[in-house]
Amino acid sequence: MNLQQLIFTENACYKAGVLISPKGIVFHSTGANNPWLKRYVGPDDGKLGHNRYGNHWNQPMSRRVCVHAFIGKLADGSIATYQTLPWTMRGWHAGGTANDTHISFEVCEDGLADPEYFAQVYAEAVQFGAYLCQRFGLDPLKDGVILGHNEAHIRGMASNHADPEHWMRRHGTSMNDYRNDVNELLKPTRIESEEERMDREIAERIEAAAGRLEDATARLETLAGATPKPAPAPTPKPSKTVLELAREVLAGKWGNGADRKRRLQAAGYDAAAVQAMVNKLV
Ligand SMILES: [Zn+2]
Repeated sequence: MNLQQLIFTENACYKAGVLISPKGIVFHSTGANNPWLKRYVGPDDGKLGHNRYGNHWNQPMSRRVCVHAFIGKLADGSIATYQTLPWTMRGWHAGGTANDTHISFEVCEDGLADPEYFAQVYAEAVQFGAYLCQRFGLDPLKDGVILGHNEAHIRGMASNHADPEHWMRRHGTSMNDYRNDVNELLKPTRIESEEERMDREIAERIEAAAGRLEDATARLETLAGATPKPAPAPTPKPSKTVLELAREVLAGKWGNGADRKRRLQAAGYDAAAVQAMVNKLV
C-alpha cells in the first residue's frame, strides 16, 4: 500500500469538525471515468499532478461531499491511497446514518473495463481495508462492519447508489470477496515448521530428479532413433483472472514454491504475474 496524506482542510466537512468513533468502513467508487487522483485530491503535492480545472475537493463546494480517502492513479500512473480526512472525523459520503459510524473511501473509476487497473486498485483497497481494521480493531467479517455503498443503502444507512459492486461484478468479484481478502491479510502469517521445510525440500528434489530423468529418457530415445513423443495436449485456455488465482494461492489451493509455479504453468497461467499479485495482497 502506498498511503499518502493530504487533508481536505478547506472542505466544509473538515471545517464542521464533527468526530466519530469508527465502527466500520464503507467502500465507494466514484461513478465517473477518471482514474486520476488529482481530479479529487489537491492541490498538487508534486506526486498528484496539476488539476487544470481546479475542481478537486479540498475547497468550499456547492455539494456537501467528503470522504476519508481516495484510491487512484498518481501523475506517474502508479497507484496510491490518499487520506483526505482524519479517520475519526465524520465524513459526508453516505447520505445517511453510515456517516455517523463508518470511515469511507472512494476508488477512482476508469471506464470499468480494464482488468489490470481494477486488479491494482482492488489490491490497494484490500491492504487499506486491513490497515483500517487493524488500527480500529474492526472485524472485517462481522456483519455490517465493511459495506459497499450499495449494501449500506439496502440497510437503510445510505442513499441509493450502485457503487462499488456494479464495477466489481464486471471483474468477477464482490464485497464478500473483499471482506474475505481483508480478513486473509489480517491472519498472522504461519511460519513453516522444520519438519514441513524438510518435506518441502525433499519433494522439490524428487521433482527435479524426475525432470532430469525425463530429459535423459528423451535424449536416449532420440539417440535410439525412436519416434519422438507426440506433442503434449494443448494447454487448456486459462479462465481465471490473476486476482482470482492470487486469492486461491493465498487460500493454499496451489501449493507452494516450485510446485505452485509448475501447477500454475501446467494449467496455462502466468505464474510470475500471479506471484506479483500475491505479493501485492500480502
Ligand atoms: Zn458511493
